[in-house]
Amino acid sequence: MFVDQVKITVKAGNGGNGAVAFHREKYVAQGGPDGGDGGNGGSVILRVDDNLSTLMDFRYKRKYVAANGQDGQGARCRGKNGEPLIIRVPRGTVVRDAETNEIIKDMSDSEDFVLCKGGRGGWGNKHFATPTRQVPRFAKAGLPGESHEVVLELKLLADVGLVGFPNVGKSTLLSVTSNARPKIANYHFTTLYPNLGVIYVEEGVSFVMADIPGIIEGASEGLGLGHDFLRHIDRCRLLVHLVDVSGSEARDPVEDFEKINQELSQYSPALAKRPMLVAANKVDLIPEGCDNLERLRAYVTERGYAFYEISAATHQGTRELVLAIAEKLRELPPVTIYEPEYVKPLAQAGSVDEVQIQRMDDDLWVVSGGWLARLLNDVNFDDYESRMYFDRQLRQSGLFARLEELGIRDGDTVSIYDLEFEYTK
Ligand code: GDP
Ligand code: MG
Repeated sequence: MFVDQVKITVKAGNGGNGAVAFHREKYVAQGGPDGGDGGNGGSVILRVDDNLSTLMDFRYKRKYVAANGQDGQGARCRGKNGEPLIIRVPRGTVVRDAETNEIIKDMSDSEDFVLCKGGRGGWGNKHFATPTRQVPRFAKAGLPGESHEVVLELKLLADVGLVGFPNVGKSTLLSVTSNARPKIANYHFTTLYPNLGVIYVEEGVSFVMADIPGIIEGASEGLGLGHDFLRHIDRCRLLVHLVDVSGSEARDPVEDFEKINQELSQYSPALAKRPMLVAANKVDLIPEGCDNLERLRAYVTERGYAFYEISAATHQGTRELVLAIAEKLRELPPVTIYEPEYVKPLAQAGSVDEVQIQRMDDDLWVVSGGWLARLLNDVNFDDYESRMYFDRQLRQSGLFARLEELGIRDGDTVSIYDLEFEYTK
């Protein structure tokens, strides 16, 4: 079975917790705090793997979790970072948010993509060692890793998409013009999944052609095969519409041509407008006195399509067709790469009542809690806007007002996970 769409859940690792520990050494009366930080959680990373051609591997495994960071230890030992989880996907995999269906990333180039960021490790108590501070018997928890439910959808990267009824000779054409060896047989739906072939034209000129299972009437409404596979030609720059003119299936080529066009436009109006060449196949089989070829030629040329007659089986006209395709591709824009649409919603402050405030020392206030952790994970402290957003959220939550009530003074330290700042009104 060919799998080209799956829904999976991914989760990055949580940051490890910081450690509470005190230096111990013979003859040293009272060692200082030396608890190490927690390690960072592993991220979930997507990577293109050209050895993969389907999303089959995702069929039975739906949940992907990266390793948590280890907790810190004594003697200033930092916990180990969690290993990143690398998920391999075939080139052309489009990643969408499962809820909104917005595109998060089109995995078409070769760069790794961080889908979920691991949580940062929490601080050990060594951070709280100051000459005046007493015994810092506390450390920080790590931040949670991000998680996301996403849909992976494979949309092949091909320059040319072959369309046509089952059995018209699409696979045969691909096999005689390219390096691909698709299955060919004289019955409908021999091709059960898309095949890609590289067609070498001449030095420095080649293109990729996709052969998808034949479209049947009603395919765009999801009746039977074909519909699902149209997504694989969504990106194609050019369509080659193959029509059987031999009459061997007792169908009319003009009607066939129109039906397929209808299916295309029902599936996607944009796809129906894609530049298209028409090739009449199986001209070697045309019986004496049959006018199929002439009728189709008249019909399509009148509508402005370039028309070719070929016999994929005997290679008649195939070289001319390949050259015409290459020529046409020269003037067409490159294969579509989808731009990301999804914008991660920023974490928002909740109520101050959900926050734990601990006065750890005369001048040290440690604040923690669920929404604070999420908020902190989302802030990019190198970015002014992001810092301002964080500040506004904290104010809105009433956190500063609460700290005032509890007696915070200017110059005291506020410590939130791995962030520490001096309090000023
Ligand atoms: P697809 O379903 O469109 O991929 O069609 P196939 O490539 O599997 O071909 C269906 C049948 O038609 C096979 O038996 C092929 O050998 C045969 N066929 C394909 N092209 C030609 C042709 O140009 N001439 C003849 N005589 N048979 C052909
Ligand atoms: Mg086929």
